Amino acid sequence: MHEANNDTWRIAVVGSGPSAFYTAEALFKSGVPGVHVDLFDRLPVPFGLVRGGVAPDHQKIKSVVKVYDKIAASPGFRFFGNVQIGRDLQVADLAAHYHQIVYAFGCESDQKLGTPGEDLAGVHSATEFVGWYNAHPDHRDRTFDLARAERVALVGNGNVAMDVARVLLASPDELAKTDIADHALAVLRQSRVREVVLLGRRGPAQAAFSPKEIEEIAALPEVDVVVGANDATLDPLSAGWLEREGARSQQRNVQFLAERAAMGPGTAPKQLVCRFLVAPTELLGRDGHLRTVRVQHMQLVADADGTPRPKPQGTSEDLAADLLFKAIGYRGIPLAGVPFDDKKGIVPNVDGRVVEQPGGAVRVGHYVAGWCKRGPTGLIGTNSLDAKATVAAMLADRTAGSMLRAAANDITQLLRSRGTDAVSWADWQALDAWEQEQGRERGKLRHKLPSIEQLMGAVRDLRTQR
Ligand code: NAP
Repeated sequence: MHEANNDTWRIAVVGSGPSAFYTAEALFKSGVPGVHVDLFDRLPVPFGLVRGGVAPDHQKIKSVVKVYDKIAASPGFRFFGNVQIGRDLQVADLAAHYHQIVYAFGCESDQKLGTPGEDLAGVHSATEFVGWYNAHPDHRDRTFDLARAERVALVGNGNVAMDVARVLLASPDELAKTDIADHALAVLRQSRVREVVLLGRRGPAQAAFSPKEIEEIAALPEVDVVVGANDATLDPLSAGWLEREGARSQQRNVQFLAERAAMGPGTAPKQLVCRFLVAPTELLGRDGHLRTVRVQHMQLVADADGTPRPKPQGTSEDLAADLLFKAIGYRGIPLAGVPFDDKKGIVPNVDGRVVEQPGGAVRVGHYVAGWCKRGPTGLIGTNSLDAKATVAAMLADRTAGSMLRAAANDITQLLRSRGTDAVSWADWQALDAWEQEQGRERGKLRHKLPSIEQLMGAVRDLRTQR
């Protein structure tokens, strides 16, 4: 137990995505003088999924970084890019230097389908595809055989599925104006994809996508959203459930899908075909490559609280597909030295305070925010409220004197002694300006370098010019 001395309160945040920035913001707004917040990211660049996840044609959503730039301008803020916790620094190093540590490293992996054939060539996770088109260094070397694929199966009914469908069906000339990775644009220009078949295991009323996301796809030139009459028809359970407790967005989805069903099969050269109440059971291939998706037909039954859940009907169907993308949710991966709840794929916690295991003792001084706290749900703004709740716990513990000792000096000395080349906020600002300038020269919004080596090379070059 330790009380911060009156003039400093030092906090390390692991991650630099939305929840990390909202945590920093809540700390700076806490009214406590002398707050120092250091954000660590294993990549040389900040912003997590805003840079590496939000689709390149959704620049309005990406513009939230202006808020993060303001937070970064607060006295007491520092960024340490290219610093990986578990490699360059250990959790014990952070515990020796900071009064409190916040884990905000998100969910970097994805859920598995668990069906036979998941390892066939042509079966991909949306996480890989999204990272690839966003120039995320982890995914730059992925290959997606779009030049051979006409029909793509897309499993899942969330907003990630919408992003994947849109990028697959949009005009490459439009995408070329964004900050899409050059390697992805080149492959998308060769794409022969004409049909994306969206597979939802529940019905239209339970679709997790936002109405405006599916409406945006329908508004793309050359693309029809096609829904069969049977797929758009609500079963009695869902109809009652929608009326009783359906959100406005779910009602709007159902109405939109019914309108599309009434419009018939569509005439546009490309199609998003929405199928509901179908779940893959087996992926079948030829010569190691996906050819067929076997789906079972589902029906909805009420669970204990009345929520419609999918149950196999006992019949199945084979769908031809050249590629399959799984957009069935992200999943957290453990960080060395930090407790992990393998069942939920998150850091176990009680209201943001890390616990040793679910139901176990609180680990004093360690906190969690964002997706690795609550799981991969909600929109970017959801993380603001979430971070405020964690910071409220941190403040209460600070007042109670329940913190780490933070006896050691500034972390920069340790990083320097280990030869770690940390990217500062000033480094990032120079790289940010360079990426935008390079983008302008290429007729796009931003030119992103796709590897850590290239990013660090640019950072070092730019330092010599300052
Ligand atoms: P999500 O919203 O949780 O959707 C996951 C989808 O996968 C659901 O339809 C789910 O169906 C389905 N699913 C899960 N396991 C499955 C299985 N084994 N077989 C078949 N289907 C399965 O997740 P997400 O799309 O990855 O998005 C994550 C979060 O980021 C969401 O909160 C999303 O809104 C947000 N996001 C927002 C935007 C945007 O605003 N533009 C863009 C991208 C992501 P059930 O409902 O039946 O479980």
